[in-house]
Amino acid sequence: WKNAPPSLRAIALHGQTHGQREFTIYEDERVTYDAWFRAVAALAHEFQACGIKKGDRVALAMRNLPEWPVVFFAATAIGAICVPLNAWWTGPELAYGLANSGTSLLVCDAERWDRILSLRDECPELNTVFVSRCDGEPEGAKRLENVIGTPPTYAELPSATLPDVAIGPDDDATIFYTSGTTGKPKGALGTHRNLCSNVLSSGFNAACAVLRRGETLPDPVPKTGLNVIPLFHVTACSAGLMGNIAAGNTLIFMHRWDPVEAFGIIEREKVNSTGGVPTIAWQLIEHPERKNYDLSSLEAIGYGGAPSAPELVRKIREVFGALPGNGWGMTETMATVTGHSSEDYLNRPDSCGPPVAVADLKIMSADGTRELGVGEIGELWARGPMVVKGYWRNPEATAETFIDGWVRTGDLARLDEEGFCYIADRAKDMIIRGGENIYSSEVENALYDHPAVTDAALIGLPHQQLGEEPAAVVHLAPGSHADEAELQQWVAERLAKFKVPVRIAFCAETLPRNANGKILKKDLLALFQN
Ligand code: ATP
Ligand code: MG
Repeated sequence: WKNAPPSLRAIALHGQTHGQREFTIYEDERVTYDAWFRAVAALAHEFQACGIKKGDRVALAMRNLPEWPVVFFAATAIGAICVPLNAWWTGPELAYGLANSGTSLLVCDAERWDRILSLRDECPELNTVFVSRCDGEPEGAKRLENVIGTPPTYAELPSATLPDVAIGPDDDATIFYTSGTTGKPKGALGTHRNLCSNVLSSGFNAACAVLRRGETLPDPVPKTGLNVIPLFHVTACSAGLMGNIAAGNTLIFMHRWDPVEAFGIIEREKVNSTGGVPTIAWQLIEHPERKNYDLSSLEAIGYGGAPSAPELVRKIREVFGALPGNGWGMTETMATVTGHSSEDYLNRPDSCGPPVAVADLKIMSADGTRELGVGEIGELWARGPMVVKGYWRNPEATAETFIDGWVRTGDLARLDEEGFCYIADRAKDMIIRGGENIYSSEVENALYDHPAVTDAALIGLPHQQLGEEPAAVVHLAPGSHADEAELQQWVAERLAKFKVPVRIAFCAETLPRNANGKILKKDLLALFQN
């Protein structure tokens, strides 16, 4: 992995060589690699003219628009640290990200600017704001279009070279915020090497699986991917953008996720791959409109970021004839640490795969002093070129989490004899019932096996003597039936008695999730209040 591209700047320069091939498609806006690079170069010069220097923070707050990868590569090409903020955050949350990162220049879309304009005083280091997609001049800010035009006119920008800035692989490149599932979001400080290593893991891992089976690799042909998850999470940006630019693929963005609209795009653009998080895959499978579209171009549906039902693997094969894929990663690892696809995944549908070629995994005791053996559940630790330096401006959390090149993931997992990883639970979500450990995924998977259940979450209810008791929340497939007693009986036939949920609540909708597809377990407790 020492031979990974040395910087995001190198990835941008490589992207330029794809010339007239299409890079992004958003509604009727089609941007070639050449046009994108022209905009990147123009904006990089403008950032320098605004006084941005190496190490300064440039924040990015917008939905998945074609200008997103322009801003990202313009900022990092001059050595600035790009801070992609969660576009679904409210005004005060965005202000927290801007103040915490010490951002001096922000590029956002008009929607985000409306949200944070009144909070500008709370971001003392913020000097300059560019706003895209604004009718007229934005108050207190500049129009991004005055610098680079609109996506359809990027191609008319004069060709230019990137400003000359020396950047090394270990220079800071990004601050991505964690999802905030277990507390306040923390800024993970990533280097150029962290992001670029995804080029190796995304391409190389699939190739390794093919070679392991003794088959030959197909000729690389550029593909079209429908990207439906937000670029402000590492899964889409780091794992998604890097590998796709390396391969010269085309990426389609949607204004917002809508399964029927996705079917139309897949048919029209002959999309080869999509996915992102498990919920997206389920929605594609279950939507009744699916049958009215030709989706035969789909070759792969991959996801990660959250636990998924083993059943999903079979369904994807059955419904689309496509290859399912799973990957485990976290913001602190700039996405991909394990990758699972093809036959391997079909044979081990409850695993998130082996580590990618450049990563190491180990399972440690809860106190972090002892490495556990094959099959034992403990805390997952990960090491490799994707593990970030630490948390931005948070030395205590950094010292707790990053130890000798390893990151303590906070996930409980086991490894099998071939090194495949099985996530059992988050350490913070594991339920301890009178001293017995109950791992969410085991019980959730048992529930998923029931034909009526399409969504399930296990949570702990406080109990005076036992400490906690397991309770489940499920969503049933439309038109199917199952009651609490039936589902309890179902689990009891499969798992030890102490693991059977003492109560089961039914949710009319799929369970509430955050922007990264993770079930908001804290919110589910309210369902058991009486
Ligand atoms: P915070 O750290 O702020 O509480 P978060 O951990 O949800 O939030 P992310 O970095 O977005 O923030 O998510 C990483 C977590 O997502 C992992 O620790 C793991 O629990 C979960 N996860 C990621 N990929 C998978 C997967 N393939 N299977 C199961 N769980 C996964
Ligand atoms: Mg986390």
